[in-house]
Amino acid sequence: MTERAVSPAPRARVQAMKEYHPPLGSRSLLRLDFNENTLACSPRVREVLGSISAGALTLYPEREPIEAIVAAHLGCEPVQVALTNGVDEAIHVLFETFLEAGDELLLPVPTYTMYEVYASATDARVVAVHAADDLQFPFERLLEAITAKTKIVAIANPNSPSGCVATRAQLVAIAERAPHAIVLVDEAYFHFHGETVVDLIGTVPNLVVARTFSKAYGLAGLRLGLLAGPIELMRWVRRVLSPYSVNSLALACLAPALEDTDYLDWYVHEVLEARADFEAALDRVGLRRWPTRANFVLVEIGPRHAEFVDRMRTDGVLVRDRSSDPGCNGRVRITIGTREQMQQAIAALNETVAALGLGANDK
Ligand code: PMP
Repeated sequence: MTERAVSPAPRARVQAMKEYHPPLGSRSLLRLDFNENTLACSPRVREVLGSISAGALTLYPEREPIEAIVAAHLGCEPVQVALTNGVDEAIHVLFETFLEAGDELLLPVPTYTMYEVYASATDARVVAVHAADDLQFPFERLLEAITAKTKIVAIANPNSPSGCVATRAQLVAIAERAPHAIVLVDEAYFHFHGETVVDLIGTVPNLVVARTFSKAYGLAGLRLGLLAGPIELMRWVRRVLSPYSVNSLALACLAPALEDTDYLDWYVHEVLEARADFEAALDRVGLRRWPTRANFVLVEIGPRHAEFVDRMRTDGVLVRDRSSDPGCNGRVRITIGTREQMQQAIAALNETVAALGLGANDK
């Protein structure tokens, strides 16, 4: 038979989705491109991983006891917390649970790409509120954009790629202005900022918070995140969430990761010191940067952004061109690692700026 098979078409929504391929290939250089921990996880986590038996891997993962541990850590009830396969799954499941035709997802942009990707698989409409040139949180305009159709407002705090933050008062005001919507506060970079609204869970009835173990904890490879929110909302999320999406290795690592506060404090302190060093270096060469409360900084490179990224790579440092983000043409995001790593990054920066004739002297 030579009849050609007709492959089944995906849903129209899926056909319209944009492809998203993060540039992950060949990352053996200094990784300042994905806002991960640039060094290692806690040695205690490493020990636990090494001690997992072959027999333990034959069991399906049991998340509830571990959810109780993380809930206690956050000061929540276990029923208010769901562990997820990274925050990406948390976003995906939240959107699948709540967004339907006619709903609006309200997003301050630029922001984390996956909100739009997962929203585009639903029948909801994305309403983007553009930040001004200063890339500060567009609070007033976000409030004005709330309508009766707003179903979710997703706010990364600190935001990526800008590093800007919303205040607690602003987040509460948004939740109050949109009582019919969920306000998702994505605290992926919480540890570098130090401020949270997790204590308001249950008090603010439409507030949901996401956290990840991919950043400060250094466990991006394990895929471990969480969603915390009021019981009434979380019970619907649990209907959609796979009971097994967080694997047993990740579950085994959660408690030691939380317990090793010395490691976490050391890493965060290291990044904050290194961030100040790197910001000073950017100022010396005269490149514009945006104020940041996260483990990365957005830098204005201008029309030669692609050459900048290539030249930094030649010098052993991976950085991330954010030019395709709304309002970010010519801007590059640079993750902050340890002080020693950022000395290498500063040397590469100085060399690249001189080679391309960028910086203050060029303007
Ligand atoms: N939220 C934000 C704001 C992020 O920047 C990222 C990672 N780049 C994520 C969520 C995804 O985190 P995870 O690795 O837990 O899926």
